[in-house]
Amino acid sequence: MYDVAIVGCGPSGASLANFLGLYGFRVLVLERAASAYPLPRAVHLDDEVMRVFQAIGLADAINDKVRINAGMHFVDKEQNMLVDWSRPQSIGPYGWYPSYRFHQPDIEAILHQGMTRFSSVDMRWCATLTSVSQTENHALITFDDDGTTAQAKARFVIGCDGARSLVRHYICASKDIVSSDDITRINRDDEMHDLGFEERWLVLDGLLKRPRPDLGDFTIQTCDPDRPSTYARQPGNWRRWEVSLKDDETDDYVRSDEFVWSFLAPRVTADDISIERRAVYTFQSKLARYWRRGRVMIAGDAAHLTPPFMGQGMCIGIRDVANLAWKLAHILRGGAFSILDSYDSERAPHARAYIEMATYLGNLLNSCETADGLRTALSSPQPQADDGQVAGNAKMQSIAPRLGAGIGDATNPLRGYRAPQPLMADGRLLDDFIGLRWGIVSRDVHAPALLRDDICVVSDAHEPALSKMLDDLGALAVIMRPDRYIHAVVEDIKSLSSAVATIPA
Ligand SMILES: Cc1cc2nc3c(=O)[nH]c(=O)nc-3n(C[C@H](O)[C@H](O)[C@H](O)COP(=O)(O)OP(=O)(O)OC[C@H]3O[C@@H](n4cnc5c(N)ncnc54)[C@H](O)[C@@H]3O)c2cc1C
Repeated sequence: MYDVAIVGCGPSGASLANFLGLYGFRVLVLERAASAYPLPRAVHLDDEVMRVFQAIGLADAINDKVRINAGMHFVDKEQNMLVDWSRPQSIGPYGWYPSYRFHQPDIEAILHQGMTRFSSVDMRWCATLTSVSQTENHALITFDDDGTTAQAKARFVIGCDGARSLVRHYICASKDIVSSDDITRINRDDEMHDLGFEERWLVLDGLLKRPRPDLGDFTIQTCDPDRPSTYARQPGNWRRWEVSLKDDETDDYVRSDEFVWSFLAPRVTADDISIERRAVYTFQSKLARYWRRGRVMIAGDAAHLTPPFMGQGMCIGIRDVANLAWKLAHILRGGAFSILDSYDSERAPHARAYIEMATYLGNLLNSCETADGLRTALSSPQPQADDGQVAGNAKMQSIAPRLGAGIGDATNPLRGYRAPQPLMADGRLLDDFIGLRWGIVSRDVHAPALLRDDICVVSDAHEPALSKMLDDLGALAVIMRPDRYIHAVVEDIKSLSSAVATIPA
């Protein structure tokens, strides 16, 4: 029996497989395709995702393939600047630059290569899940393994099987078993909350044939109510345009040379760039109603869909699996099953905050064409993160929502926010010292002596960056979960003992 079966090996499934491989669990990964998807979809990732890649030991390889993101300019249809959202060009409090550009096939190749480090990870390409069911003790999956019908038992099944997820259908339809015949019955509206955005957009990915530095490094959001569009600089010679479509424009027409080159004409011509992909997407904002049924769960696009205006779809999915990996490890090492109750309760509101912000931004692109209009919109109330932080105030900011209720004391003021990651005196980042364990960073004299393998205590003695972190948090100690969210910040020794007692054992 496998410990975990992962269905789908896009960025969410591959990241989860790397986590579980590092923990040493027996993992089966099924991927319907014969190899990784060769063309880009996601082009932006943030510091939290780089930190996850650091946790799975792949940040150095990925760092070689990304570009630090300059930021985003909102312009009107004459390309006059409306709002300048420049992103910091220095490493932030979490140990990485806040925002990166990348070419998705590069990152997926590194994630897949990373999985080969672990003999306990059994990767099957051309393997399509066809049915799933479960008993009290295990889940049973049937799959087409390159033309042969096969079955496997696993203690947990995680559906990272994308927007048309069969695993989500199993969770939401509440049948004893679902099979591939059910795929035609998948109705996203029944299975997912509609968060209010649905538009067709054309995505053009091209490779420059000659240098065009004048295109610039900033993402350009053109606020033209008649034809909103986005330009994005990617690593190397890749460039991306995303173009809003009208209802009467057919897919064939907008993919034609006539449409593509007339849209691109003010910017580039066929002498400058070869267009490698012309894809029509319906951008949607949706959140699964249920994320778990017993020992079967979903993560990534299977659980949520967002318009790409914040560059967060993949990032949200990678946060899901970082949240899930240590909880699965906890159970597989003998901990209580009930820890899984916190998976969707923590993740769903967090994912929702990003999707609502992206939806808001998409609606803004459609409706604002003047600097005044955009400023007014950005100054008015916007979707709020759980912390009550308003996402913009006549300027754009990224959001940092709080996890929903789950593990830890919700009254602890910083519980559920991301923990900082300072550089240690020996040049290592804090997480590299702690590994996949819980971490307690404490003032030296109060550092608790703990005999638990899953908790790493780090004292601030001779560690000025850790002392500063504790000063900034106004804390005697901070307890960090394995996914690097704050479990508790404590100010005195008595609270430290009681907070340590709430770490799941
Ligand atoms: C135009 C565009 C721009 C985007 N830009 C960004 C961005 O800048 N930043 C960002 O973070 N995100 C972005 N996204 C979103 C991002 O691409 C997705 O959120 C991400 O790829 C989802 O990853 P996933 O692993 O959850 O699902 P997927 O990548 O969809 O992978 C699911 C996998 O499951 C497999 N599968 C499905 N069914 C089965 C089955 N029955 N058996 C076996 N395997 C199965 C599929 O073959 C697939 O490989 C963008 C998306 C689009 C379309």
